[in-house]
Amino acid sequence: MAEPHPHVYYRDGLVPAKEATLSVATSAVLYGLSVYTVFPVHVDGATRTAFRLADHYRRLVESCRIIGIDSFEGEWSFDRFVSVAVELVSANAPASDVYVRATVHVDESIPGTRVRGCRTILSMFAYDAVPIVPQDGMRLKTSTWRRIPDFAIPSRAKVNGAYVNSVLAKQDAIDAGYDDAIFLDGAGHVCELSAANIFLVRGRTLITPDVSCDILDGINRRTLLTLAGEDGIRVVERTVDLTELYIADEVFVTGTSANVAPVVEVDGRIVGDGTQGPICEALRKRHASALRSDELHGWVTSLG
Ligand code: PMP
Repeated sequence: MAEPHPHVYYRDGLVPAKEATLSVATSAVLYGLSVYTVFPVHVDGATRTAFRLADHYRRLVESCRIIGIDSFEGEWSFDRFVSVAVELVSANAPASDVYVRATVHVDESIPGTRVRGCRTILSMFAYDAVPIVPQDGMRLKTSTWRRIPDFAIPSRAKVNGAYVNSVLAKQDAIDAGYDDAIFLDGAGHVCELSAANIFLVRGRTLITPDVSCDILDGINRRTLLTLAGEDGIRVVERTVDLTELYIADEVFVTGTSANVAPVVEVDGRIVGDGTQGPICEALRKRHASALRSDELHGWVTSLG
């Protein structure tokens, strides 16, 4: 990740980035007991717009509910959350697109492994919008690490501590010379990448693991499903076998920090003809333009 831009929202106001520090004795640090989201902000001169901010806020609230953080929702209305985003981007005045990471940290010191009733704080910082995976055709490798199941640490909650699972898989993929990893679940079905959702195309059908497949319910995944449906593409959410990726016409991934990015190789096998396929290309364009302006779905929020 790039460096945070100079002004960071921390606890109850903006502070210089180096002052936004948590105590080593907080549950956030000790147990990874924080939840977060990352949303994109498009910058066009003095105009700044966030994509699907209400959905990011809602997922943050849901992540809190799942792991039992009970102080966030009452303290942070959507309007208050938006006002902090506005304050943050105004203070930093970014010259180009940024990602904004909003985190709810459990800020109690050494309360043991529990969460209910614990004090939380919100942090929010912006950083340059540099994608985390190649945009021109990535190579993936199936991980030997499996995705954390819903009955251990639910993938639908964006819990900081759970990202150790992603780190294990991504580091191994990089060490093996690949761009990212494909997670399978315990039964060998395809879940997602370390920090992106996965799609495959067979004929004119777009297929992606459904939300009960131990995946994050990605906001760009939802976006692609909507856009594909509008384009008359048949969309199926279901269990996916690994070998279906080996015979797919197209494979691509979605995520805030991945955009819509084509996959050209899986486990040493070339996908399709080894270049970006037509459905990926079309949806990629639609997605890129929705990130900037979108009157149809109401996905874009002005940050002033
Ligand atoms: N899966 C995981 C594990 C992720 O971390 C992310 C990135 N947030 C995604 C999928 C994509 O989600 P979104 O489209 O909401 O960014």
